Amino acid sequence: MSSLPPVAALIVAAGRGTRVGGAVAKQYRRIGGRPVLAHAIAHLGAVDLIETIGTVIHAEDGEAFSASALASGVAAARLFSTSGGGSRQDSVRLGLEALAARGFARDGLVLIHDAARPFASEVVLLRAITAGARFGAAIPVLPVPDTLGVVDAEGILRGNHARAEARMVQTPQVFRFGVILDAHRRALADGRADFTDDAGLAAACGQEVHTFMGDADLFKITEETDFARAERHLANARGESRSGIGYDVHAFTAGDHVVLGGVSIPHSHALLGHSDADPVLHALTDALLGTIGDGDIGMHFPPSDEKWRGAASHLFLADALRRVIERGGTLVSVDCTIVCEAPKIGPHRAAMQAAIGGVLGLAADRVGVKATTSEKLGFTGRREGIAAIAIANVAF
Ligand code: MG
Repeated sequence: MSSLPPVAALIVAAGRGTRVGGAVAKQYRRIGGRPVLAHAIAHLGAVDLIETIGTVIHAEDGEAFSASALASGVAAARLFSTSGGGSRQDSVRLGLEALAARGFARDGLVLIHDAARPFASEVVLLRAITAGARFGAAIPVLPVPDTLGVVDAEGILRGNHARAEARMVQTPQVFRFGVILDAHRRALADGRADFTDDAGLAAACGQEVHTFMGDADLFKITEETDFARAERHLANARGESRSGIGYDVHAFTAGDHVVLGGVSIPHSHALLGHSDADPVLHALTDALLGTIGDGDIGMHFPPSDEKWRGAASHLFLADALRRVIERGGTLVSVDCTIVCEAPKIGPHRAAMQAAIGGVLGLAADRVGVKATTSEKLGFTGRREGIAAIAIANVAF
């Protein structure tokens, strides 16, 4: 396919997801441990032909975008973001203008995609690029399996649409860059803001829009139930599953608090260590590294390095997560057991789950935190220190 023009993708992610509701816009809610947008970026990024992936975001979502970009595992050099406008049409136009400002070729192809469709397979993306190169404008469609009834305001059936001619229209929609850029500029100049998608806008400018076969996995997350469908999709799509274990011990020393699972807990002693001496996060870090055979915490953060003196251990855990993601892994769950006579862990369990889940992007029901004593036996039983053991489950 050496004759193909350059290809870019534009993800529209500027909406606030009001239809689904909730405090977080739907494109930033997590499925399978990663934001919806991260899945969309990762799928586009899996196709090497796509040189650049721009995301149009709400002006207030810069941080959420950065987290999604990182979680996608796609090289930052291929990604950019730009602020959107008040409507989808405005946002797409601003994204196209950002591509133009970056010097993207007018005869290149641009795939315009919804962030809320996280599962664009490589097969369907290559289909889009091929159709775009051939026709200049093409959209993925699916046949309509059910009869299309027409009802009035009272919900009474008044007739049927002809199903044979009807198609469900999906994204990514693909266009010659110069064609769709000019179409958007003309719509702006003409004061036309009534287009529901880019195909309609291109067609209004006289561009013949072709179709290619879409994909059921391109479904759009619109309702709350779609999140459960997305989780099921990920569970089915998961291939290899890997586990890693970690174990860590820190001895007590003079002090008035310990740090366990990222939570500071008042205690009669402190734990001795080079960093903040959190055995739970250290064991979890080793568990994550174990899933990718990438050494251990001491190798990446040697105690001999002054840089890590007193360091907060969530930095180590976040680094291990980055390594897992870069190797294509999706962290599914972690579990840990803390072994000590005191302090009592139960009152701090929820805070630890939240702290660990915050670092790893996992909901509380994917973060196990358990505690046991060792019946006064051994070093933990003699209250000489605290041990923690952890396991991580990663899907590839
Ligand atoms: Mg340690």
